[in-house]
Amino acid sequence: MKQYDYLIVGAGLFGAVFAHEARKAGKRCLVIEQRSHVGGNIYCDNVEGINVHKYGAHIFHTSNKEVWDYVNSLVPFNRFTNSPMACYKGELYNLPFNMNTFNRLWGVKTPAEAQAKIAEQRAEYSSIAEPANLEEQALTLCGKDIYERFIKGYTEKQWGRLATELPPFIIKRIPFRFTYDNNYFNDDFQGVPIGGYNKLIDALLAGVEVLLDTDYFADRDKWNGMADKMLFTGCIDQYFDYRFGRLSYRSLRFDTKQLAEENFQGAAVINYTEREVPYTRVIEHKHFESTPSPITVVTYEYPDDYEDGKVPYYPVNDARNSEIYAKYKELAAADESVLFGGRLAQYTYADMDDTVEAALALWSKIKE
Ligand code: FAD
Ligand code: UDP
Repeated sequence: MKQYDYLIVGAGLFGAVFAHEARKAGKRCLVIEQRSHVGGNIYCDNVEGINVHKYGAHIFHTSNKEVWDYVNSLVPFNRFTNSPMACYKGELYNLPFNMNTFNRLWGVKTPAEAQAKIAEQRAEYSSIAEPANLEEQALTLCGKDIYERFIKGYTEKQWGRLATELPPFIIKRIPFRFTYDNNYFNDDFQGVPIGGYNKLIDALLAGVEVLLDTDYFADRDKWNGMADKMLFTGCIDQYFDYRFGRLSYRSLRFDTKQLAEENFQGAAVINYTEREVPYTRVIEHKHFESTPSPITVVTYEYPDDYEDGKVPYYPVNDARNSEIYAKYKELAAADESVLFGGRLAQYTYADMDDTVEAALALWSKIKE
């Protein structure tokens, strides 16, 4: 018998939920994490009482009651509702695209007026039957005014490519509604943990042995020998020594500043949608939890090319990468001693609720 039942590579949300369930079931788990903290990308730094979302703004939203109850049983969540603003050439507009946005754009007041205006804008692109790229998708969905002000510049800087070179599905994620409702998400439940995401991760990992600053690849043989089974939540291409090639990613750079003022921008998130402004978003962290403080902390988020040594944030799910990933997935399925989970091992963009759901589902499958 080996020293542990499970070696879990990665102390992000996926690894932490799995470890929590396995520990509750009496399994001996060891978690190894290459960073000097647990939590993966949901980790928060605490700056003078303000929880700073170190790897980008994180808002938990879900319609899955089981997942919502699960996370709330570990730490209470507040009722934060994401209602970001878009800044285009110095003018502010509400997001997601709703009656407030349409009123500011065109002066329309009723849903019927807004729908007529959008229908008129879309009509120009009615010859596009099957959108072949993101630009065509956006133009056929929203028309030129919205596309040019809010989508084209933001998307091109975010992805480092022209909108005509990007797949259409990226834009399908943005809600579009004809009510005066600035809630960015359509889900039933939404909030952030009171006291920050570290409380959630710490509750999940309570009683679990964790080694920080420990890269699995620095000594694979040693770690492979430690446990009967492994859960791997790192990059799947690296696990298989890049034998089918490297998967592409988009990275981010965060520039965080502490400011000696109480309220810098009056919102947690402001998107900068024109191409000329180099950052995509400015986050003012205290607004997630309405933290009282005479100072504030803001983060400028810059899209960045990915290379070794940087954090792989967004998978680039185009045809080439999907093909490569399919080959790795096949190898992974054939390897019975290792489970693969999380956004890096599954090369997917997964929200936190998807991540919790997937980790719970994996554990239930094993239990059976
Ligand atoms: P990760 O958090 O990446 O954890 C994987 C862990 O494994 C990391 O800690 C990593 O260091 C470690 N690791 C990797 N390789 C090794 C190795 N070789 N050895 C040891 N350790 C290793 N979701 C939402 O629901 N709402 C949001 O508002 C939201 N905002 C987001 C904003 C941004 C900018 C990004 C990038 C994502 C956002 N998400 C959001 C998604 C959310 O971050 C993910 O759902 C979640 O973090 C996925 O957890 P994970 O465990 O799969 O991955
Ligand atoms: N997007 C955009 N303008 C915006 C916000 C988003 O064009 O003001 C596009 C952009 O292509 C982005 C995608 O919508 O990559 C998804 O945005 P979302 O805010 O859901 O993604 P996040 O980056 O927070 O994961």
